[in-house]
Amino acid sequence: MNIHEYQAKELLRRFGVAVPDGKVAYTVDEAVQAANELGGPIWVVKSQIHAGGRGAGRFADGEDGKGGVRVSKSIDEVRENAKAMLGHVLVTKQTGPAGKEVKRLYIEDGCDIARELYLSLLIDRASSEVTIMASPEGGMEIEEVAAATPEKIIKVAIDPATGISGYHCRKVAFFLGLEGSQIRSCTKFLTLMYKAFLELDASMVEVNPLVVTGAGDVMALDAKMNFDDNALFRHSDVADMRDEDEEDPAELEAAKHELNYIKLDGAIGCMVNGAGLAMATMDIIKIKGGEPANFLDVGGGATKERVTKAFKIILSDANVEGILVNIFGGIMRCDVIAEGVVAASREVNLHVPLVVRLEGTNVAQGKKIMAESGLPIISADNLEEAAAKVVAAVREAG
Ligand code: ADP
Ligand code: MG
Repeated sequence: MNIHEYQAKELLRRFGVAVPDGKVAYTVDEAVQAANELGGPIWVVKSQIHAGGRGAGRFADGEDGKGGVRVSKSIDEVRENAKAMLGHVLVTKQTGPAGKEVKRLYIEDGCDIARELYLSLLIDRASSEVTIMASPEGGMEIEEVAAATPEKIIKVAIDPATGISGYHCRKVAFFLGLEGSQIRSCTKFLTLMYKAFLELDASMVEVNPLVVTGAGDVMALDAKMNFDDNALFRHSDVADMRDEDEEDPAELEAAKHELNYIKLDGAIGCMVNGAGLAMATMDIIKIKGGEPANFLDVGGGATKERVTKAFKIILSDANVEGILVNIFGGIMRCDVIAEGVVAASREVNLHVPLVVRLEGTNVAQGKKIMAESGLPIISADNLEEAAAKVVAAVREAG
């Protein structure tokens, strides 16, 4: 799960991590009130959407060519900037061309920036350790830094048994070129950040930029946090930060029915049991020249109702031109799945080609049910054939 910048800063602040003062605002009046309470003399008005690149982004209807993060030198300027952002669509590198409507603002104290650096904490799957990643190239997208100048990135993995120590922090601080009291400030920052990361069950925290202020303090000027969904039950305060406006409606609907669905940009909808098999199915669709429209794991105990729901969710995506059902019946019986597929196809009035590959327990009964249904279901005996058939069917239909 993702949260907004202001929410991430609120959480980090609780752990003592240094962030500027700021307040959230849903209306222009609230923005002005927040600015008055903060006192100034400089404020930054920041659009709150679940996408980065806001500063360099542009409003779809913006004539002034200004972005989604604006330094404001008076209350009047705060008001004007809040007006220009709230209710307007911000397009950034990460939102895609459709952009995102800004519904919340963060009014933050202006910071005296001496240097902009990059910092993130993430779980390195190779070492299974929380890893600090840092770079002196603040404000840049880290993927670009990694591609062009990988020597400007340091990674420091932290053994969970012993935790973070001064040694880790100094290694990062020296790499970033910090000196004197800045090193102490950085050590405190990283130690508290690591504690926050662990205790909140975060999966990623990205601070870009991490700044050194004119006074030599190290502070988070931006904050993006992701959480492990499987641990959210332990953090109701974090779970309450969910902003459904920022989430894909089909993904939300799927989550309510315990379906693991992620929308993608292709034309071939996939319904698969098991995450690994779903990944393999997407790969093979691509190998056969198609593009998957989604990832969908219906889970081990899918019922007829869940299969129907899954079908409806796949078809709610207007880009879907064909569906591939790939089920390996282990605990799940192929005849149950076949009944579900047939019932769902009838109920949703299926209008795109459907290829089904079944294998495993009761596969013969399953195939019989589909063949006798009278529905134009294309059956396949193995995954490769199934992928080739759905790609071909979509080409023919289109
Ligand atoms: P994004 O990454 O979405 O563009 P940031 O929060 O990183 O948004 O802001 C973009 C830039 O705006 C920062 O790199 C920094 O230069 C400036 N900025 C952001 N917040 C402040 C602040 N409180 N004071 C001064 N400058 C800021
Ligand atoms: Mg940023």
